Amino acid sequence: MSSQSPIPWFDDFFGIAYRYYDLRMNVVPLLSDRKQSVSLWRDTIHWWSDPSIKIRFVETGDKYWFIMGSDSQKPDTNLSFFKVLQKSENYERFKKGHGGEAYLRLGVYTKKFLSDVKKNAMCDCGHEAEDHDEGDDDVCLYNNCDCKKFSSFQVNLLKRKKTITDIAFLEEKDVKDDPLVWNCLNVNKYSKSEQN
Ligand SMILES: [Zn+2]
Ligand SMILES: [Zn+2]
Repeated sequence: MSSQSPIPWFDDFFGIAYRYYDLRMNVVPLLSDRKQSVSLWRDTIHWWSDPSIKIRFVETGDKYWFIMGSDSQKPDTNLSFFKVLQKSENYERFKKGHGGEAYLRLGVYTKKFLSDVKKNAMCDCGHEAEDHDEGDDDVCLYNNCDCKKFSSFQVNLLKRKKTITDIAFLEEKDVKDDPLVWNCLNVNKYSKSEQN
């Protein structure tokens, strides 16, 4: 355990995707920019040693805190990650199915519009692109769907990966026992006004 100055908290990412890939669940922080994701890997995650990577989940109602940190061989560019996210089916699937191990990869998230996609691309409303009107207004024409505009996203996973074996789901009453989570909630929740 190092006793350097506290590691900064990083939350400038969209969310987390949970994907099966390479036979294992992947935990994928999503960034909007490829360059940003490459430098985040190169400056920070590359220097993490796999056995010290921790991911923590703290549920509060229909949301949860995603918290991730690690010891680094290059402490001055180290970051810890956190994000408050809406619970989702994929999150619940990960919670049940991770089996104590996951890959960490970064992903680049791109929003897609009707003009960018093939006819069978799936809209967020659950219907294919060809069910949407190709006029100015790309409303969904499927029965009584109320989707007004085709929208969808694509996630490209970067190749590099780390293996995470320290995964825990906590309740807020237990966070004092976990230094990473306790630090995160102190800085980003309990004492929001006294940052820096
Ligand atoms: Zn739609
Ligand atoms: Zn629809």
